Amino acid sequence: MNYRELSEKDKKYLWHPFTQQQEWVLDKDITIISKGKGTFLYDAKGKKYLDGVSSLWCNVHGHRVPEIDKAIQKQLKKIAHSTMLGASNEPAILLAEKLIKLAPKGLTRAFYSDSGSEANEIAAKMAFQYWQQTKPAKPKKNLFLTVREGYHGDTIGSVSLGGVNLFHKIFGPMLFKTLKVKSPHDYTSRKVSNARWLEDCVKEAVVVFKKYGSRLAAVHMEPLMEGAGGMLAHPWGYLKVIRKLCDKYDVLLILDEVATGFGRTGTMFACEQEGVNPDVLCLAKNLTAGYLPLAVTLTTEKIYKAFLGNFESTRTFYHGHTFTGNQLACAAALANLELMEKEEFLANIGKNSQILQELLEPLVAHPHVTDIRLRGMMGGIELIKDKKRNISYGYAEKIGYKVCSEAKKLGVLIRPLGNVIVLMPPLAISRKDIVRLIEVISLSINRATRV
Ligand SMILES: *Cc1c(COP(=O)(O)O)cnc(C)c1O
Repeated sequence: MNYRELSEKDKKYLWHPFTQQQEWVLDKDITIISKGKGTFLYDAKGKKYLDGVSSLWCNVHGHRVPEIDKAIQKQLKKIAHSTMLGASNEPAILLAEKLIKLAPKGLTRAFYSDSGSEANEIAAKMAFQYWQQTKPAKPKKNLFLTVREGYHGDTIGSVSLGGVNLFHKIFGPMLFKTLKVKSPHDYTSRKVSNARWLEDCVKEAVVVFKKYGSRLAAVHMEPLMEGAGGMLAHPWGYLKVIRKLCDKYDVLLILDEVATGFGRTGTMFACEQEGVNPDVLCLAKNLTAGYLPLAVTLTTEKIYKAFLGNFESTRTFYHGHTFTGNQLACAAALANLELMEKEEFLANIGKNSQILQELLEPLVAHPHVTDIRLRGMMGGIELIKDKKRNISYGYAEKIGYKVCSEAKKLGVLIRPLGNVIVLMPPLAISRKDIVRLIEVISLSINRATRV
């Protein structure tokens, strides 16, 4: 079908995520992707774009990777899907084994779902039920401590755990209460020393633990960098302190590595950089290299055992989804992890991160750039209206969107988070394409801020 017809039907029938439809339907140039190859996307008009946002933070090795294509085709010849409720399947079993081998120490059990939001819901429900069933039971431990500006997905449980005001505020009355400590938000390593920054961030957490430690079921947070909250980097050492507090007060640590997991921040999992092992780990996005929806919640034997008992005990974890452990998705993930196990995988991310870092350096002095944050291949460029007087762009100025719209004209697809331009290219991006990406972003910032 041609572009014009597709565009009309899109505007007639679809409702896009995180999109003001009133503006969308007026846009005469909506992007309709028809194919991809490597780190490029091609639209229905035949225009080529660099996939600068890795198809929403999940593409790893590029599009149409022969090894993953083949694994899915092979699986498709056997079966696409059968249920995990009361049955099992080979790709799900083999993937679980691989994940447990790869995961931080202590994580021994894999529970599948279909999206990052679900992986987080599952983690929270597991932690909640755990305290009621562990021996001796501590049912009073039913509170969750979270970090402001955290993002754990869009279902109601994960929204309760999150703290991005713009997305979450309207749902306030629907949410369960959580305790929140401040996000590293106002601090960057540039403005104060890491030690001061860390001290300030930790201070509040210590107070909350002292007051509520005996009531806390878990700390639920993103490690190293809060993603959708605006690419907000944590001070080094923060996660380690939180782990210590959790140990001291007998609180579970749930890490949401949906965005940071599988190499995104330079190590297989972000928590490795702080030498921290979580009690529960949520993974999704990169798990199938951006091919198919699949998520997993990993947990320890200690938590798993609290759910054991005879049938009548009703200690079962009553949770599951229709497509839990889907064969095609698990086959894609297995092929992806095989590629990730190659030595070059992490080394290449390290190199790419270094290149990014160097190319971004000149932008620090830009009159409309106030901060650049980067952890591995995950970063953000924060824009400011008036650097000297520290005046931010207002929401209505749509500066992030303007930059991305300029970039689109230049053949690069990226997305903003408010005034932050997100840096999330496919992990396997070439040096040449990183150079192009940063050139286009710099030029787009110039064009969009010169008003
Ligand atoms: C994207 C994301 C989620 C939600 O994952 P979905 O698959 O979109 O439901 C949760 N946590 C983090 C940190 C994310 O980046």
